[in-house]
Amino acid sequence: MLAAMPPSSPNPQDRGEAHIRDRVRDRGDACPGALRLHRADDGALARLRVPTGVLTSRQVDVLADAADRLGDGHLSLTSRGNIELRGLGEGCGLGLADALRDAGLLPASERHERVRNMVVSPLAGADVMAWAVELDELVCGEDWTAELSGRFLFAVDDGRGDVAALAADVTLLAAPDGAALLRVADRTYRVAGADAPRAALAAAEAFLAAAREAGTGAWRVRELPAGQDVDVTRHLGRAGITAEPVSDFVRVTGAPVAPGVLGDGTVSVLARLGRVTSAQFRALLPAREVRVTPWRGFVLPGFAGRAAAEERLRALEEAGFITRTDSPWIGVSACTGRPGCGKSLSDVRADARPREGALPVHWSGCARRCGHPQGVTWTDMVATGEGAYQMTVQGSTK
Ligand code: SF4
Repeated sequence: MLAAMPPSSPNPQDRGEAHIRDRVRDRGDACPGALRLHRADDGALARLRVPTGVLTSRQVDVLADAADRLGDGHLSLTSRGNIELRGLGEGCGLGLADALRDAGLLPASERHERVRNMVVSPLAGADVMAWAVELDELVCGEDWTAELSGRFLFAVDDGRGDVAALAADVTLLAAPDGAALLRVADRTYRVAGADAPRAALAAAEAFLAAAREAGTGAWRVRELPAGQDVDVTRHLGRAGITAEPVSDFVRVTGAPVAPGVLGDGTVSVLARLGRVTSAQFRALLPAREVRVTPWRGFVLPGFAGRAAAEERLRALEEAGFITRTDSPWIGVSACTGRPGCGKSLSDVRADARPREGALPVHWSGCARRCGHPQGVTWTDMVATGEGAYQMTVQGSTK
């Protein structure tokens, strides 16, 4: 809960100072990364950011090999398109870092490893993908960006509205004429396409300035106190970017990428409960590239025609992927649960199953609801004991 009222103070001189606000965060950012591992009940956990969502064949091989050699032989996908390795043994952090660095999966500066948080439309063409690549380079090239929290999120949307719906802190949305809409807080600006990545960076800088001014420890734009201005216009101006305010807020929501063959030569699959074995992960190859989606799936572009794409889709169905839009497992997600998480009241992934109805359903082992859907209405199943769950419906703002 955010509050803009000053806390009561025993010091009479402090009373009435409206700039004093309740803190929303009292701790530093403890988000796991690929270099800062999280100690879980089933071993260490590494979370790798894949900023553009794009993996090369070699990177797929390296990650599958790391899961086998160092972890539990599985790879998990997060709702931000990150990849997690779990069950990592004691002292394997250095070996993992070396493998990831050699494969080009880490930034030059390790301070930026956890702030490369970006979701990109998985079907984006070259122009929008170039925005994402440039934005990642900009984020990794500035010292001050290391102050962003590991939760601060950029979205780069190709205009279809799929990742624009994911409640990112800064969203770039491609307009049909090649320009970009920059959305931050409750404002939208129109900027030239060539300026789009720098505009997103300027918006992040504006957020950090606002967060410092508020002094409440906010990690995300929505955590800022009510009434706290994010002065995007000033930061865009300082960067020499011409921006035209569009309206109070531009909301565009598009559907996630569906499984199946898309167009003439693109294959899309989902990972059941967001987890794959290393063998399943390798089954994505050969591929020109593998795109990780924030809906816990993969997109493989570039097949030579529909027949070749359909043949690969059948092979991936045999490998255990969700490949059809009528699969009851679409929209079913689960947190780690037991045995990986000591807070879990049940073995969530064994309990999780599809439910009747059209809403996405998320199964959680406790009230933290890790990895729950964003920006949509969803059925919330929270464990209350071994195999027992409380069901509610949650709105898009949670
Ligand atoms: S929701 Fe609770 S039980 Fe599940 S992973 Fe998060 S903390 Fe653990």
